[in-house]
Amino acid sequence: MRVFKFGGASVKDAAAVRNVAEIMKRFPGPDAIVVVSAMGKTTNDLEALADAFYYRKKDTEHIFDKILSYHYGILNALFPGKDHAVYRDIEESFGILEAEIEKEAALPYDQVYDQIVCMGELISSRIVSAYLNEAKVKNRWLDVRDVIRTDSTYREGKVNWELTEKLAREKLGEGITVTQGFLGGTPENYTTTLGREGSDYSAAILAYCTDADDVTIWKDVPGVLNADPKWFDDTRLIEQLSYQDAIELSYYGATVIHPKTLKPLQNKKIPLYVRSFLDPGKMGTVISEQQLQLPIPCFIFKVNQVLISISPKDFSFIVEENLSDIFRLFSQQGIKINTMQNSALSFSVCVENDLRKLPQLIETLRKKFRVLYNDQVELVTIRYYDQATIDRVTAGKNILLEVKSRYTIQMAMKNA
Ligand code: ASP
Ligand code: MG
Repeated sequence: MRVFKFGGASVKDAAAVRNVAEIMKRFPGPDAIVVVSAMGKTTNDLEALADAFYYRKKDTEHIFDKILSYHYGILNALFPGKDHAVYRDIEESFGILEAEIEKEAALPYDQVYDQIVCMGELISSRIVSAYLNEAKVKNRWLDVRDVIRTDSTYREGKVNWELTEKLAREKLGEGITVTQGFLGGTPENYTTTLGREGSDYSAAILAYCTDADDVTIWKDVPGVLNADPKWFDDTRLIEQLSYQDAIELSYYGATVIHPKTLKPLQNKKIPLYVRSFLDPGKMGTVISEQQLQLPIPCFIFKVNQVLISISPKDFSFIVEENLSDIFRLFSQQGIKINTMQNSALSFSVCVENDLRKLPQLIETLRKKFRVLYNDQVELVTIRYYDQATIDRVTAGKNILLEVKSRYTIQMAMKNA
């Protein structure tokens, strides 16, 4: 079994969907699972729709129409006859979506969000499956919610591995199956999502549960680069990467692979290929069990960070008990600490500036601690650093915090 994951950019228009068929024809199978994301930026639009619906904003209808016409544009280009059966499926899907946003918003926000946002993957996988069949890549469509079973943690479903493995063995047999990334099903048969950009993780879950030979993630970059081309000009392709390095890089925020993807693959030693759908002849990157490679410095750059410094109000030492209170608060609020450091009197953390969660956290912290913070901070992580690369990225910056270990350095900084 091989698993292929096509992200939003690789199915963003009719030409992209045709390209998916070309890629699949290069891999005659026989057995494959094709995991697809929502088309283009549909998930963002569906998020806006969920928001508009839940908070009773006026633009609900407008956003719905935008999503509808985008998908019909692609459908009409791929199936010009308009009598193809796929039109019925898509009409039905939009009917379900419309019904969701006409309900009373009686459920909690995160649950409502998942019931709405899931439609992106359900629709795109229908279109891709139908088109592949047209293009003689014979496949069947599968509702992944019947296989990937999760608890009821909406927007961050936790996988029930035992049940998922059993269902995957039953339902993912021979031939090519086209299914959705990002989604799971709860015991009460509600939909969960696995966290934004979670389709990579879905591919890994299905690979793990079917003992797949490998997973390929098709992206709009040539593979894993040593830095995000958005921030750095002169990036290099890393052809081979150990699981450990890949896990470290995604932990620190490299966005090329969803952080949860690697563990299930590493556990079963399933190689992960990251390749370009624009240039499918090239090998890209393979992540597998191997010695740490000859290191080249890798950069991870995060903007819009807040550096928070927390100290006891009476200037006493920061002790274990304070730290455990502080960590509990961050974890309860679901705020990820991107780096941290402590001294005798204060504990500093760098986190994403999340306007929905952070003000409340700071207010709670202030009941017990003195809290100072600095926003508009950049956080750079360099794995396999050397002095030259440090100098390069810190030129013209004030370094507010620096955390260094043998292989990795993190610096929170601001323009000087
Ligand atoms: N469509 C989802 C998102 O944009 C999942 C994914 O693309 O991996 O977050
Ligand atoms: Mg995506």
